[in-house]
Amino acid sequence: MAGYRIEVRGTVQGVGFRPWVCRLARRMGVVGRVQNDPRGVSIEAFASTAVLGRFIDELRTDPLPTARIAELREAPIPDEDLDAFVIESSEASGRKALSIPPDLATCEDCTKELLDERDRRFEYPFTNCTACGPRFTIATGIPYDRAATTMSEFVMCEACRAEFDDVENRRFHAQPNACPECGPSLRLDRLDGHAATASNVLAHAAELLSRGKVVAVKGLGGFHLACDATDGAAVRRLRERKHRDEKPFAVMVQSLAEAGALAEISSEEGALLSAAERPVVLLRRRQDARLAVEVSPDTSLLGLFLPYTPLHHLLLAAARRPLVMTSANVSDEPICFENDEARRRLEGIADAILLHDRKIAMRCDDSVSRVIAGVPTIMRRSRGFVPRPIYLSRPVARPVLACGAHLNNTFCIAMEDTAYFGPHIGDLETVAALDFFEEAIERMQTILSVRPEVVAHDLHPGYPSTRYAQTRTELSVVGVQHHHAHVVSLMAEHGICDQVLGVAYDGTGFGEDGTSWGGDFLLCTAERYERVGTFRPIRLAGGNLAMREVWRIGYALLHDAYDGAPPRNATALLDGVPSSSLLLVKQMIEREINAPRARGVGRYFDGFGALALGRARSTHEGQVAIAWDQVANTSVVDAYPYEIDRRTTPWEVDLRPAVRAAVEDLAASAPPGDVSARFHNALIAATSELLDLLWAERGNLPVALTGGVFQNERLAAGIENVIRNKNEVLRHGAVPPGDGGIALGQALIADAVMRDKG
Ligand SMILES: [Zn+2]
Ligand SMILES: [Zn+2]
Ligand SMILES: [Zn+2]
Repeated sequence: MAGYRIEVRGTVQGVGFRPWVCRLARRMGVVGRVQNDPRGVSIEAFASTAVLGRFIDELRTDPLPTARIAELREAPIPDEDLDAFVIESSEASGRKALSIPPDLATCEDCTKELLDERDRRFEYPFTNCTACGPRFTIATGIPYDRAATTMSEFVMCEACRAEFDDVENRRFHAQPNACPECGPSLRLDRLDGHAATASNVLAHAAELLSRGKVVAVKGLGGFHLACDATDGAAVRRLRERKHRDEKPFAVMVQSLAEAGALAEISSEEGALLSAAERPVVLLRRRQDARLAVEVSPDTSLLGLFLPYTPLHHLLLAAARRPLVMTSANVSDEPICFENDEARRRLEGIADAILLHDRKIAMRCDDSVSRVIAGVPTIMRRSRGFVPRPIYLSRPVARPVLACGAHLNNTFCIAMEDTAYFGPHIGDLETVAALDFFEEAIERMQTILSVRPEVVAHDLHPGYPSTRYAQTRTELSVVGVQHHHAHVVSLMAEHGICDQVLGVAYDGTGFGEDGTSWGGDFLLCTAERYERVGTFRPIRLAGGNLAMREVWRIGYALLHDAYDGAPPRNATALLDGVPSSSLLLVKQMIEREINAPRARGVGRYFDGFGALALGRARSTHEGQVAIAWDQVANTSVVDAYPYEIDRRTTPWEVDLRPAVRAAVEDLAASAPPGDVSARFHNALIAATSELLDLLWAERGNLPVALTGGVFQNERLAAGIENVIRNKNEVLRHGAVPPGDGGIALGQALIADAVMRDKG
């Protein structure tokens, strides 16, 4: 007999991994034990050397499909006299473990049962097993067992109990296990004053959808608003009622094949769509897609996702059409998740509401992913991912809470060698969002059983997340520069602690000098950074107003490029803006009244986009920038001129020559697509030239491309193509490049600052 201790790290908790190991061991005649530990699962196995070898091979090469093994390490241990293989409960090990896994999409086995007339769970909308179903969103405490979930009010029937207790059954210890006999049930309420039929609720919902009605649907982490995605009038109605301007809606389709009829899908994108996390995936819409243009009026990108609960499967099958499925909220408020709350808040928005009696304990919005220049990149990390840990290559000295930034807020808690992002909170613009932020922090602290000792926040004094951190006076409070945090998030994702050259491009972020940064080159580690490059600033007349009235940025570019006197043919590009407004903005810039300087590369996109597309306004953050990216003519390879000013500290990219060249192009009636391509090419060339200069001066460091602007595929791919032969290039994958990913970097920087202080 020989003995081995095998440590498995990765996504191995809450996916049925322990029972699977147990079955495998018993089949092979291996004795020993398996249990969760704080970092994954550990196995102690005893058998003959040959059998143990095969057992470890099997674990390594043919793992459970729902598990994702990041690392498997084995070491010999002394033989023990055992006669069986058992699953040991986590508590028995005497160590704390995060036992709550993320929610997972309905697995294939459960989907089959759902459609099998002979099965006792035929068409049962709450079917689940150890490989799938709700988890994080139903957990009310720890450890993760049924008593600490919202399923505790349902008592398992005998048949369900037998499955739950049988280690050979795929529902062994499936905490939300249920069936039509004993589990939750579905119902439809009309909010439009009509009576609902009590029987065949799904058929009724499908019928309403086919008539263009808006139906709210209770999902895993909150309610969605659904309507027929092929019916323009229905989609318009939903937009009006939800007060949602032109932001695209996500669309749920029944199958990968149906997704393929609406959008172009690569194999990587197909894998993302089908993954157990089931994110919304941003795809290129097909010209001939049978879909209302109102779904995404302003962009050729289309957010699609596949059903991830049995209820979705049944609803899509009954409706027989793609459905808009957008978070049930008004404007920027958090998603609705309680039945009474939903009925109250959705009155006047939804015509009916499809709901059930399994409570949602924790709100959790859909996640969003996109393949950016070949790399699957998460843009919003929430349902399906939270609370899965991110492993740190260097443990933090004490537990840290990092509060994130302002838009697309998420927070992060780091402890020992793991970091946990909280769910997507959204923009911290409303009282409701702030309440959600605070409540989610409390809950994450509870389920991780951790009390942070350090709290990190953005340097921006006006952010509600900053003010929240400053109220936590019982903790050590550390302010972290926005772009430093972006770069360190990306370093952490790649397990890098040594110095890198970070390129942080975004819309805005508070700089150490009190001005807005966002086009910054940082030589950096978690401990410190040096700002070695930036962009020439733009005056934002009216401050935040300029973000919506992007013509103000366009004008500021002209004013700067022509030394305060742009020619008539240049200002003609701002056709439609009253000359009195232009004059006012000119004066604001010249007298420096409410015209702060901003260096965000995102603002250059806004400004060039405004001039070349004749777009005076942006209805939501990034709208013009995204449109500007998409019009680019890929066959245009030349670039606008630019300069790099090395007399300043830090060095500065000057795009005034590009502005003048674009004005000449537009005066000669060049298509906006050509102007866009030359603008992108100039940014790519300027970035790589500045990197060359910095490498020559500072040594050959790896480059970290981060910030919301790197959601722009043309720019990310363009820069990577030019520099990848010269040096290592890091890009985001598992941590969002935008502000939703910033909290991780904040946590690690705060930890480094506290270490420095001793
Ligand atoms: Zn299942
Ligand atoms: Zn049952
Ligand atoms: Zn940012």
